[in-house]
Amino acid sequence: MEKVHETNFIREIIDEHLKTDRFGGRVHTRFPPEPNGYLHIGHAKAICISFGIAKDYNGLCNLRMDDTNPEKEEQEYVDSIIEDVRWLGFDWEDRIFYASDYFEKIYEYAVELIRKGKAYVCDLDGDQVREYRGTLTRAGKNSPHRDRSVEENLDLFKRMRNGEFPDASHTLRAKIDMASPHIIMRDPVLYRIKREHHHRTLDKWCIYPMYDFAHCISDSIEGITHSICTLEFENNRPLYDWILDALGAYHPQQIEFARLNLSHTVLSKRKLLQLVQEKLVEGWDDPRMPTLSGFRRRGYTPSAIRNFCDEIGVSKMDSIIEIAVLENSIREELNKKAPRAMAVLRPLKVVITNYPEGKAEELDAINNPEDPSAGTRKVPFGRELYIEREDFKEVPPPKFYRLSPGREVRLRYAYFVKCTEIVKDPKTGEVTEVRCVYDPATRGGDSPDGRKVKATLHWVSAAHAHNAEVRLYDLLFSKRDPDEAPEGLDFRANINLKSLEVLGDCKLEPLLSNVPAGSRYQFERLGYFYLDPVSLKAGKRVFNRIVTLKDEWARLASKEALKKT
Ligand code: ATP
Ligand code: MG
Repeated sequence: MEKVHETNFIREIIDEHLKTDRFGGRVHTRFPPEPNGYLHIGHAKAICISFGIAKDYNGLCNLRMDDTNPEKEEQEYVDSIIEDVRWLGFDWEDRIFYASDYFEKIYEYAVELIRKGKAYVCDLDGDQVREYRGTLTRAGKNSPHRDRSVEENLDLFKRMRNGEFPDASHTLRAKIDMASPHIIMRDPVLYRIKREHHHRTLDKWCIYPMYDFAHCISDSIEGITHSICTLEFENNRPLYDWILDALGAYHPQQIEFARLNLSHTVLSKRKLLQLVQEKLVEGWDDPRMPTLSGFRRRGYTPSAIRNFCDEIGVSKMDSIIEIAVLENSIREELNKKAPRAMAVLRPLKVVITNYPEGKAEELDAINNPEDPSAGTRKVPFGRELYIEREDFKEVPPPKFYRLSPGREVRLRYAYFVKCTEIVKDPKTGEVTEVRCVYDPATRGGDSPDGRKVKATLHWVSAAHAHNAEVRLYDLLFSKRDPDEAPEGLDFRANINLKSLEVLGDCKLEPLLSNVPAGSRYQFERLGYFYLDPVSLKAGKRVFNRIVTLKDEWARLASKEALKKT
């Protein structure tokens, strides 16, 4: 069922435009990433807003590569963006565009501005331009080249294009107002000379338009109605409007919203690139990365990410969203959908001494208590089993109710077992095996005499276990704000050194030996796991932990609280 979105300030603006017929009833948005990195969860918010609004208003949304800055852009990034937006579940049909395809048109618009006396070629270098610009409290000074004739400007601009001048020696600037209270309006640079290979236009151009010039023209060319972007562009809006007005071109409405900030996460492409280049993570799709490819590899679903974006809403107020909100959104979804299975991550052998040797039986287990239609399955049981090492303590601390010498517990869906003996490694003293007796009358996990046990453990039959690797992922940064680093250090100092734990000897319920790549399961008591397709392609079965279960203690505590009321 399609979700009905709550209104927000962007939708109110659009509703107003529909009422006043400003755009002839059309709604046409775009998502314009710069292909200089992989998309992250912040981009997901922008995608959900622009594509989501288009969908809800029966409008259109374009995907546009904002590839006007050749230094940092690459085809790899273009490909990843296409893959990620599609994975998130949005469709641009045939409307994928590249700002670089407009270079010729953008150039013509620049010529037109010159013809109108609204742009000029300036010979000041970068430092001089900055110096002439003035400050918030001091007006700028006019460039000495500001009053060149139209003919001279046309000639110089053409020669800029033809490669007659060295890099950075000339710029094309808008002729606006060097005393404007908006510093962006103090004759901003529109074009610069830069001999740089472009991933699409190759070496055709040695001049490139600046973002502010290219972006509004691209929006205008595509007939965008609402150009939705993040708040840092609010300052640029007067320039966006000035350029399109000066050209008398079709004029979209720019609307800004607050970007997503997430706790324990960095969302700057520069920093993410640094993590990848310095091999602090395994790549852009490392399951600890906040990139869409990282979340995909971790096992997140597109719908969980879309629901998260819906839930956090849209506003003009900057805020930091707790990473727990995102984790809850995948947890909630998988709690409903993911089938259950048993897996032992740090195995400890259990031998049931009164269970006949060579015997095996199949016990009924519930596939999903949240979804009765998921039915039941058979789980093999035998004399030798594995339980979680931490579910046994030779000397139980207070409030430890799980297995220990003399104590009886329930094996989920199986029997009550009681620990009678332990075997230790004579050298290290480590417990290597636990011996138990079982009560055949408790088959299925219920005691006919009403006898109670305080703990239920998960287990896997040793003879049937599927061996696999499990990777436990934790937060990549241990600080809520990773940028808060000691003097002289940066966000990298806050990397959580325990963010990945690889467990190579896990014992899984046999059904997990042939589930397909991309399967998601709840491993009882342990969390939600995903069979990593990338590792599987390389011949290795690796289950990634997507997210932990809700903290067991917190859940028990809230149950207790409920009982009391
Ligand atoms: P950089 O980190 O280099 O500034 P960027 O993350 O802004 O780059 P773009 O490719 O320019 O990258 O972003 C594409 C679109 O996504 C822009 O409209 C931008 O406003 C939006 N966007 C980027 N980061 C966020 C974020 N954290 N939350 C919401 N939207 C974002
Ligand atoms: Mg940006």
